[in-house]
Amino acid sequence: MDLTALYKVSYGLYIVSSAAADKLNGQVANAIMQISAEPPTVAISINKQNLTHELIAKSGKFAVSILAESTPMELIQKFGFKSGRQIDKLADTSYRLGQTGAPIILENTVGYLEAELVNTLDGGTHTVFLGRIVDCDHLGDENPMTYAYYHQVKRGRAPKTAPTYQATAPKPTTSQLPQYQCSICGYIYDPSQGDPANNIPPGTLFADIPDTWCCPLCGAPKEAFVAL
Ligand code: FE
Repeated sequence: MDLTALYKVSYGLYIVSSAAADKLNGQVANAIMQISAEPPTVAISINKQNLTHELIAKSGKFAVSILAESTPMELIQKFGFKSGRQIDKLADTSYRLGQTGAPIILENTVGYLEAELVNTLDGGTHTVFLGRIVDCDHLGDENPMTYAYYHQVKRGRAPKTAPTYQATAPKPTTSQLPQYQCSICGYIYDPSQGDPANNIPPGTLFADIPDTWCCPLCGAPKEAFVAL
C-alpha cells in the first residue's frame, strides 16, 4: 500500500473557526466538502485535540473562511501550526464576527460560509461535523488556494493533527551530512540546502545553526528538531 496515492485527492485550504463562552479560535483545515445542495450542507473533519473542535462541539456552530492562492505562509503558520490554547491567533488578524458568532477571516480570503451543526460522526482521531449553511458570501475574485498548490508551490506540509498528515521521509541529498526534522510540522533541514531565506547558507551543519533559529515553516524552536 502506497499512502502517497492520497496526495492525488484534491482539497482546498481553509480556516475553520468557532466561538463559545467568549472564546474565539480558528485553525487551518483542508478536509471540507459540500455534501448536499438542498438544504446546503457541508462536512468538515476536525482533530479532537484542537481548541476549535472544543468550540464547535460547545456552540454547535462554525465558519469556514476560504483562503486565496496568495495567502502568505505566515498566516498559515499562525492558524495551522500554533494552538489557540497558547496564543490568541486573532489578536493581529483582520476578522469580523458572523451571525453564528464565529470569526470570519477578512485577510487573504476569497469567501466564507457559516453553518449550524446538524450531525456529527466519530472518525477516530477526528470528528466529522455536518453543518447546514446559514450564511455565505464572496470576499474576493482571486483563485482559492488548493492543497496541491500549498504543497507544490508554497512547499507547505501538514501538521500532525491534520487528517492528511503523513510522516515525511528524508529527501534525497547529495551530501552525507545528517538531516534534522521538525517534530512539530515535519519540515526537514537539509545541510546541503541550508535555509538561505533565514541567513543559513548551504553547507551549514545543523549543530552550527544559531540557537535563535526557528523552523521556517511552523516557527518551532531549534530544540524541537530531531536527527533523521
Ligand atoms: Fe516546523
